[in-house]
Amino acid sequence: MNPSADLNAPHASTNPLLATEGLPAFDAIRPEHVTPGIDALLAAADAALEAAVSEATPADYDALSRVLSVATERLGRAWGAVSHLKSVADTAELRAAYNENLPKVTEFYTRQGADERLYAKYKAIAASPAAATLNPARQKALAHWLRDFVLSGAELQGEAKARYAQIQEELARLSQQFSEHVLDATDGFSLLVGAERLAGVPADVLSATKVDDPVDGGHKLTLHMPVYLPVMQYADDRALRQQLYTAYATRACEAGPAERDNTPLIAEILRLRQEEAALLGHANYAEVSLVPKMARDPAEVQHFLRDLAQRARPYAERDLAELRDFAAQELGLTDLQAWDVPYASEKLKEARYAFSDQTIKQYFTEPTVLAGLFRIIETLFEVRIVPDRAPVWHESVRFYRIERPAPLGSDAAPQLVAQFYLDPYARPGKRPGAWMDDVRSRWLRPDSGTLQTPVAHLVCNFSAPVDGKPALLTHDEVQTLFHEFGHGLHHMLTQVAELGVSGISGVEWDAVELPSQFMENFCWEWEVLQHMTAHVDSGEALPRALFDKMIAAKNFQSGLMTLRQVEFALFDMRLHAEPGAEANVQQVIDAVRREVAVLIPPAFNRFQHSFSHIFAGGYAAGYYSYKWAEVLSADAWSAFEEEGVLNPATGRRYRTEILEAGSARDAIDNFTAFRGRAPSIDALLRHQGMAG
Ligand code: ZN
Repeated sequence: MNPSADLNAPHASTNPLLATEGLPAFDAIRPEHVTPGIDALLAAADAALEAAVSEATPADYDALSRVLSVATERLGRAWGAVSHLKSVADTAELRAAYNENLPKVTEFYTRQGADERLYAKYKAIAASPAAATLNPARQKALAHWLRDFVLSGAELQGEAKARYAQIQEELARLSQQFSEHVLDATDGFSLLVGAERLAGVPADVLSATKVDDPVDGGHKLTLHMPVYLPVMQYADDRALRQQLYTAYATRACEAGPAERDNTPLIAEILRLRQEEAALLGHANYAEVSLVPKMARDPAEVQHFLRDLAQRARPYAERDLAELRDFAAQELGLTDLQAWDVPYASEKLKEARYAFSDQTIKQYFTEPTVLAGLFRIIETLFEVRIVPDRAPVWHESVRFYRIERPAPLGSDAAPQLVAQFYLDPYARPGKRPGAWMDDVRSRWLRPDSGTLQTPVAHLVCNFSAPVDGKPALLTHDEVQTLFHEFGHGLHHMLTQVAELGVSGISGVEWDAVELPSQFMENFCWEWEVLQHMTAHVDSGEALPRALFDKMIAAKNFQSGLMTLRQVEFALFDMRLHAEPGAEANVQQVIDAVRREVAVLIPPAFNRFQHSFSHIFAGGYAAGYYSYKWAEVLSADAWSAFEEEGVLNPATGRRYRTEILEAGSARDAIDNFTAFRGRAPSIDALLRHQGMAG
């Protein structure tokens, strides 16, 4: 079958996934379109890959882009639309179509990423005299491709290559097993208790755990977060908390059934990662993990974490002393144990900062919050956000365009910068959580020569409005909205026009949360909140006294929480930076705790056996990224604190140096260009009440 002929066949026009232009027809894509559409686009991408690596395509950036990027971008956009619908408007039919096609799509991208002929083509482009004349964005995109090929073993030969492939397969299998063990161990525990043991536990948890069985009756407790956490926080029964804590902290370890003990998996995963690193010519796996990241080497990360630990330690000690005093005096707990910490903390927090999320929520009506958010964006980034029209997947979804007005005095039309969908409310068939996703990226298209403007999805799960009143957002939800808009602005305001380095594409993993966490800061500014709140009944702005309480509560136990994150991050980094650590995992975590923790868990605690982030997720030698990005966002924010939180000049500098730059320039250079110096941890400590 000739795939390009197939794409142009008459039936193609009836399959919305095969549309070449415009926005996705979200109202018209049906499950039955998925397989024929994706098959045709995969066949076209396959043919493009073959054409790209053939003699007929010269070692020239433009030529390769025209042949390969055009086809793979089209596949990516269509598959993105299908995945999006599965996330926001799931049905059994759509899920089946998605699951049927996912392996084929994954297989194509994996194969492309390992195609040695393609790697040779990229190398030939890099070696050609024309390479030096490529613009900086293209040079960066090319460098990223070459780097990723090297990291996936493209330079390896013979036995080493075969072994590398074997290691990848083994690691994928072991990671999968690791997370299955955690899941099985979590699911495998339940405890039936009578209501008399649940004194203190909130009513919604009581009704959610109630067993309908007329014989046994009572409540079924599990280790799932929505049950485990409130029980640990609120149950007055200390023995019950101890029992639940012990079960939670020993999941998937040697204390349980051997068939779901993660001990051998941890050792084997670490050993294989070390072997992979050696094959790639690195001293340890942490080095491999850091190649595409902003942090330079394991030593820099460890220095950063230890510095943070040292600075946070006095505050953590103060937090703990305060908690111990309170627990002893007010709760009669004179020997504070691990299973008392969440309980005593919650009681202390209530005593200190009594206010309810419900009270605060009345001030954050959705229209006021959105208007406030849009005003900030318009003021700082010199754009306008206006309602626009596009096919959507649900009636509550809105669509907007971001425009840059013509300069004052000019009568030119505003320039289209980007567009976005906003899907605010929870509903059946929609995945929980909040996220930003790209619909398409900014790209000077090599096929048409036109500039493709970026489009984004912004998805939240707020409670929909009821009784004709506007939707009310908790303060957490307001921060989530701002966070996701931060990612969205990074994607949409980019001025880079090269696929792979425009917007959020290719941005270093440990820097990608800078723009998102940055936006959250606005939600803690009195100057902003006065204008972003209006009580749902009275219309009155948030009272200052309530705001002050929120600020005080924000930094509750920030010292303890910082040290806890540092403990996990340093453990992760040391495990992956010290070959042989797989034989001493418990000793490594014990040593890390002795060094940085003030709260040492009991000896039976096996936290590492369910540390899925690093053993079954993408965070190996990368857990530090959370704190790293917080430092960047807090330090970027401090420029606004110094120059005015709504200062348009600062906004313009932030926009041009960070938001517009994509990954066409290294994150450290973007940051330095904006801030005029290297990042410093001072602002983060100050924002979290750990300064002075
Ligand atoms: Zn984020």
